[in-house]
Amino acid sequence: MNIRVLGLALLVVAGSSSAWANDVLNPKGPDEDGTKPALARIAGAGMMDSRAFEYLTELSDQVGARVTGTPQSQQAIDWSLAKMKAIGLQSVHDEKWTMWKGWTRGSASAEMISPQHRALGIDSMGWTGSTPAGGVEADVVTANLFDLDEEIRHAAKFKNKIILMFPEGAPKKSYWLIFAQYGDFLNAAHKAGAVAVIGGQGGFKAEGMHLTHTGIVGFAADFAIPVVDMAREDQSQLERYLAAGKPVRLRINVQNSFSGPVESANVVGEIVGHESPEQVVVVGAHLDSWDLSEGTTDNGVGAVSVLAAADAIIKSGIKPRRTIRFVLFTGEEQGLLGSLAYVKQHQGEMKNHLGNLVLDAGQGPIKEFQLGGRSDLVAAFEPFADSLSNIREIKVNEKIEFGTDTGPFILAGLPGINLDQDSPDYKYTHHSAADSLEEVKPDVLAQDATILAMSAFWLADRPERFAAPWPAEKTAKMLREKDQYDMLKSFNLWPFGDLGADGKGGPSN
Ligand SMILES: [Zn+2]
Repeated sequence: MNIRVLGLALLVVAGSSSAWANDVLNPKGPDEDGTKPALARIAGAGMMDSRAFEYLTELSDQVGARVTGTPQSQQAIDWSLAKMKAIGLQSVHDEKWTMWKGWTRGSASAEMISPQHRALGIDSMGWTGSTPAGGVEADVVTANLFDLDEEIRHAAKFKNKIILMFPEGAPKKSYWLIFAQYGDFLNAAHKAGAVAVIGGQGGFKAEGMHLTHTGIVGFAADFAIPVVDMAREDQSQLERYLAAGKPVRLRINVQNSFSGPVESANVVGEIVGHESPEQVVVVGAHLDSWDLSEGTTDNGVGAVSVLAAADAIIKSGIKPRRTIRFVLFTGEEQGLLGSLAYVKQHQGEMKNHLGNLVLDAGQGPIKEFQLGGRSDLVAAFEPFADSLSNIREIKVNEKIEFGTDTGPFILAGLPGINLDQDSPDYKYTHHSAADSLEEVKPDVLAQDATILAMSAFWLADRPERFAAPWPAEKTAKMLREKDQYDMLKSFNLWPFGDLGADGKGGPSN
């Protein structure tokens, strides 16, 4: 028992003896709560008889890239439905939702005309527009990513120019606020008649050797101006010319197409609980990917871990007390759209949810259980993490992750539990042409999937219910205290109005 828990314990002894207090006073892990024999069988099935790498090979090489709303994405949905049925999950079905706009990548090329003449490595960012057919030639000017207020004010200077984003001086705002304002800048530049913008990765330079990284430039946002990511070596050369006062002229040709609203779907299957089937633990990952390679590390790894976790639990032959619902979300890459749709479609049922588990941090081994702001649950989760010590040392904390499908569950007051991974190469494979099967080790994948399976089973099967949703006031207060308000507000994700502002919060215990 650590000091923090001891402090709480003294407080609780003086006050009440509720089941919750008992859980905090004396949190039980698999050694005491009766779940260990089942977990040992799941671990055996997951490690010795894993289908994870087989699934990942199929998803990567047979389905391949699967951008939400495209025919390839539908193929991935059909593949997942068939796989869930073959695994033996119950009530396998898709849950449709509609995306505001569809987008298809065409081509993107650029060459330097002066001061030298050579081809440059670029790729288009998702949901951004096109140059005139055949491309255009234009001079390059820089815009300071760290002073977008000023750049928007003087956007007229970008008429007929190619804009190169360049961070100068110190940032005056947080990363998320800069990213949110970047969208305003792109719209202002387009309105002023700029030709294209070099500035993928939220306006920052690409990671890795001659790699580009695609992605969306906001949450559920599209832009008429073409925005491209450029290989960092090429971009750095342009920067050096401009810094030396040498005019840089490029020819750039970007062709993409938009469509009207398009339908997508989350894929859902269950292991129904034998004691409290109405209570649900969601195990999820996003099925959709970007399209410069085969979408293996983002997030084939997570998607097949969800499937392999289901397979391991079913093979163990043991049913949990509560229902485990396996969900493959789509539209994550465009702004958590599938998981937002899930929470909306299941609104009436959210009070029966215990939380969700999400794996979406690349190809490495799991290193942290991040409980999404639910500090009240850390002590209860720790004995479970401790029970995994022969497999892997995994920390438990209350960190909040809004960069994946945990976000909508956190907003619903639940522990959106992010299984963070130790993936040093992910900054290269993320959204790039290097995101391939080559980058994944089968043993690490099998271990991740097994830990996901054991976590899901333990949450669903432990005698005491792990968590219930917090009221909105309490969630709003917690998110404000954890500095999430500005970011959520700037991406239109803050659903709480002025709840949680001074004097409007719930009790802080
Ligand atoms: Zn992802």
